[in-house]
Amino acid sequence: MPIHNSHPSGRHFLQIPGPTNVPDRVLRAMDHPTIDHRSPEFQKLSKKVLSNIKQIFQTQCPVIIYPASGTGAWEAALVNTLSRGDRVLMYETGHFATLWKKMAEKLSLNVEFIGDDWHRGIDSAKIEARLTEDKAHSIKAVCVVHNETSTGVTSNILEVRRAIDKSRHPALLFVDTISSLASIDYRHDEWGVDVSVGCSQKGLMLPPGIALNAISEKAIATSKYANLQRSFWSWDEILEANKNGFWPYTPPTNLLYGLAESCDMLLEEGLENVFNRHQRHAEATRRAVWAWGMQLMCQNPAEYSHSLTAVVMPKDNTGQYYDADKLRRIILRNFNMSLGTGLNKLSGWVFRIGHLGDLNDLTLVGTLAGVEMGFELAGVPYQKGGAQEAVSYLSATIPKD
Ligand SMILES: *Cc1c(COP(=O)(O)O)cnc(C)c1O
Repeated sequence: MPIHNSHPSGRHFLQIPGPTNVPDRVLRAMDHPTIDHRSPEFQKLSKKVLSNIKQIFQTQCPVIIYPASGTGAWEAALVNTLSRGDRVLMYETGHFATLWKKMAEKLSLNVEFIGDDWHRGIDSAKIEARLTEDKAHSIKAVCVVHNETSTGVTSNILEVRRAIDKSRHPALLFVDTISSLASIDYRHDEWGVDVSVGCSQKGLMLPPGIALNAISEKAIATSKYANLQRSFWSWDEILEANKNGFWPYTPPTNLLYGLAESCDMLLEEGLENVFNRHQRHAEATRRAVWAWGMQLMCQNPAEYSHSLTAVVMPKDNTGQYYDADKLRRIILRNFNMSLGTGLNKLSGWVFRIGHLGDLNDLTLVGTLAGVEMGFELAGVPYQKGGAQEAVSYLSATIPKD
């Protein structure tokens, strides 16, 4: 009998690529009376958070914290640095890159979108070619997504940086690190990024509600004369207030307690260990997918994402894909597990397994077993033993202290 009761026992498995599971330590830290955001106690909290979050971005630059979802951080990056009609170069890695492009158009920017097929990451040679051609330097910014959450493809940002440098072009570099921050190695300073866009509910293991911009000197200098309309998102007033540990408006106080805790957890584990943990779980997941006889969206092994895996459903003998959302519904109803849906043009034939944030080997094995049991119940043809492949890989690769 399937488990159709409304209070299933055990924990829900939230295996979507964000929001991710919030660890108990973070929940406890947020379980705190809301305090006066103009008090000395708040000042102490915000100074700690503003300093520790820089380490997560691997930067010495200021990091702006907004009470918003990640979409707000996209907007903040654009409106603080650009002017009406400015040309920006963007790259179609998938659904999130497409959404950012649409936003830039709504903000009256002139977007050039380098098209691609959603199966691979950024071809930086195309960026270099376009910038080299732009002798008049009409392109003001290059905006790219580091880890494309719709496809499970991670682009090489250092290569994009080199492409900009080789073309001797002054364009700013903006990077969406929303689903890579604190899961996949990301280096704001070393990669010469001008604005890094992040948020709370993915690798940082927090509930939704915090948006982040890490901002370079060059980005701050450009913001002085950029004329796009902005008010809530203005960096200058926030930077000014942050000097004393305050905000120009009410900050998300309790989420900041959570952020202080999640930064502590990540820094205690060590960022390198965090990245290795994600890489190992991603590899175990891919081995399960291949053992099932299925394909990944990502077609370039050098670009496999460590934070999520996008799986292509098999086709039936009429050439139709088995329904990915029906599979997801069956898994939710019977096993109380949420998996990511196929976004945009991937709708119905792709599903995504999130393996970022707060999970361990057994959570992952349970997740993969749930997917395999779902195939069985949904009548999706698969080869048995994917979860077993993951078990074998994980037991052979236990990290040594
Ligand atoms: C989740 C996500 C976003 C959107 O963030 P919201 O918090 O939903 O506004 C943007 N970009 C990427 C790559 C994401 O994974």
